[in-house]
Amino acid sequence: MTKAAVASNASIVWFRHDLRLEDNPALHAAIGRGGPVVPVFIWAPEEEGAWPQGAASRYWLHQSLASLDASLRKLGSQLIMRRGPSLDTLRSLVRETGATAVYWNRRYEPAAIARDAAVKSALRDDGLTVDSFNSTLLVEPWEIATKQDKPYQVFTPYWRTCLAQLSLPDAIRAPKKLAVPAVLPRSLALDALQLEPSVDWAGGIRAAWTPGESGARAQVKRFLDDALANYSEGRDRPDQTGTSRLSPHLHFGEIGPRQVLRALMQSGVWDTRSGTVSGSDKFVSELGWREFSYHLLYHFPHTAERPLNTAFERFPWRDDPEGLAAWQRGRTGYPIVDAGMRELWTTGWMHNRVRMIVASFLTKDLMIPWQAGAVWFWDTLVDADLASNTQGWQWTSGCGADAAPYFRVFNPVGQGERFDPEGAYVRRWVPELSGMPAKWIHKPWEAPASVLAEAGVTLGSKYPAPVVDHGVVRLRALAGYETIRRGGKG
Ligand code: FAD
Repeated sequence: MTKAAVASNASIVWFRHDLRLEDNPALHAAIGRGGPVVPVFIWAPEEEGAWPQGAASRYWLHQSLASLDASLRKLGSQLIMRRGPSLDTLRSLVRETGATAVYWNRRYEPAAIARDAAVKSALRDDGLTVDSFNSTLLVEPWEIATKQDKPYQVFTPYWRTCLAQLSLPDAIRAPKKLAVPAVLPRSLALDALQLEPSVDWAGGIRAAWTPGESGARAQVKRFLDDALANYSEGRDRPDQTGTSRLSPHLHFGEIGPRQVLRALMQSGVWDTRSGTVSGSDKFVSELGWREFSYHLLYHFPHTAERPLNTAFERFPWRDDPEGLAAWQRGRTGYPIVDAGMRELWTTGWMHNRVRMIVASFLTKDLMIPWQAGAVWFWDTLVDADLASNTQGWQWTSGCGADAAPYFRVFNPVGQGERFDPEGAYVRRWVPELSGMPAKWIHKPWEAPASVLAEAGVTLGSKYPAPVVDHGVVRLRALAGYETIRRGGKG
């Protein structure tokens, strides 16, 4: 270490899924040491195990890093961007800056946990101060256990225990200035990380979202002003903006769940102290499902690839590349399914109700393994999150914790009629059907020829005929389920 470096006493803050300045405990710890702060992002997709970031996530990440870098520049600093491996890169930065501490906020995916543990131990062996913090969750996965000291596998008691144990630490303000080392280490240009696609397919994502910390804050405000009061009903309506649309912001840590809860408290709709919840209980419990997903992935790390209920290892899944392609492209002939898949392709997001419908269709109507759906979502969602995606797919296909029973097969027509009653959602994403009246829009194959002609719809050419008959394949799925039910739980 050089003399200048020793004098610097700098701290490195390793940014990952915490791309914000406000309420960032790792950044706060670095500032608290008093020396210069070196904010760093390291691109190392090969360290993500089987789940390197998908295309839509990489697009979002690029925008979010640009936003964080701009915010740091306003404080006289900048985000130092490098390529991995993470440990080698951190060691180089320690050499270059004379840093004596490295801080980060924790991640909970199996590959990240293993990598972080190895990095922590190696840097400590180097004589550095190394510490990690929680910026992502309300309650960490190991802080909650059943009376038998086991992980929870049922949501309601899990969440009741979380709420009882929940204590919100004081908010940490964003810094007003940041001490920088005499010479900032060299950074790659953001473009050099090649996160954005070479052919620009991201216009729909660009139009739908504002990635970054200020975009996240604006989204919270919009939700509190416009949608929270009606969330209990509005949350199930894909034809309305009834949910918060915070998922990508939460995934990338542009805002944390504690900040969201504090915003609810400040606007007087939620109160941790009395434990009472008014109006917003449904919304807060959705944040609870996010926590539960992390709890499950942490305690059952194999579930990203394999079912929690091992009986489903024996399920007679079908190999159906044509069915899978029709589902991926939004050409199944079931309008609500196709609308969802096209919303996903265009905007990188899909409404939760529709995620459940399309996942049920893939795993039950088509009997294609849930893992194939999870992989497609992983590549196309801007909020792709290993914990929530795994839990969402296992829940819908019936093989996860507290899951929807496999025999409850969503009827895509009934679901469409119930949750998109006027067909506005379908008309938006399946313009071929925009002329169909509400009565037939969710089942165009049953419409009289005159209605189809007037709407300009020719089934089988302009819009596909259904790839399967729901009534028939539902029975096939139930028969498949019987084969594993008879064998009992694995
Ligand atoms: P809101 O209704 O406003 O909820 C607020 C927040 O709570 C969300 O931003 C999210 O962080 C959390 N949340 C809500 N519902 C759930 C849930 N069921 N499970 C876990 N967290 C929840 N969510 C992801 O963030 N990433 C994923 O990769 C993902 N994959 C999914 C796959 C399937 C098959 C299913 C059925 C659900 C998946 N979800 C996933 C959960 C849910 O669909 C999204 O979190 C939600 O649609 C995001 O929209 P929102 O922010 O408007 O949600």
